[in-house]
Amino acid sequence: MQMYANENAISYNATGLPWLRTTIPPMERHTPQRAAVLAAIASAGRPLLPQEVLELAASQAPTLGIATVYRALKKLADEGSICPVALAGEPVRYEAAGQGHHHHFQCRECRRVYDVAGCVGGLGGLVPPGFTLEEHEVILYGRCAECTVPHEGLPVR
Ligand SMILES: [Zn+2]
Ligand SMILES: [Zn+2]
Repeated sequence: MQMYANENAISYNATGLPWLRTTIPPMERHTPQRAAVLAAIASAGRPLLPQEVLELAASQAPTLGIATVYRALKKLADEGSICPVALAGEPVRYEAAGQGHHHHFQCRECRRVYDVAGCVGGLGGLVPPGFTLEEHEVILYGRCAECTVPHEGLPVR
């Protein structure tokens, strides 16, 4: 049996649906390593750096290396299964595709990036008369819950 016989017959983007909602498990469509990378990103629920992907995927694919992670990320991004998240001055992170419009929060302490549900909206009112707003980016900065927890003997005011 050829496991990847249908690989080229499947159009990942044709339906516009993210892979999570398709009936074909990712293991049957990707190499085990790529599947492990995709599973790590899907389970994280937040944008991940390649190094974070490697650490999360290690349980599924112990032999995975950082070079393979980079290759898998590029392939998965090319096919539309994951999306790059580029914050200014930061290495590119990746998140699962098909999540709809949302924004991000970066913790200044641990540098991790989290999803923020919803949108401030009403930004069209900020542009000068005669201008047309086409898109926007909103990034929130602060401390995540974990980094806000007071350390022993070092109360956070
Ligand atoms: Zn943090
Ligand atoms: Zn928005």
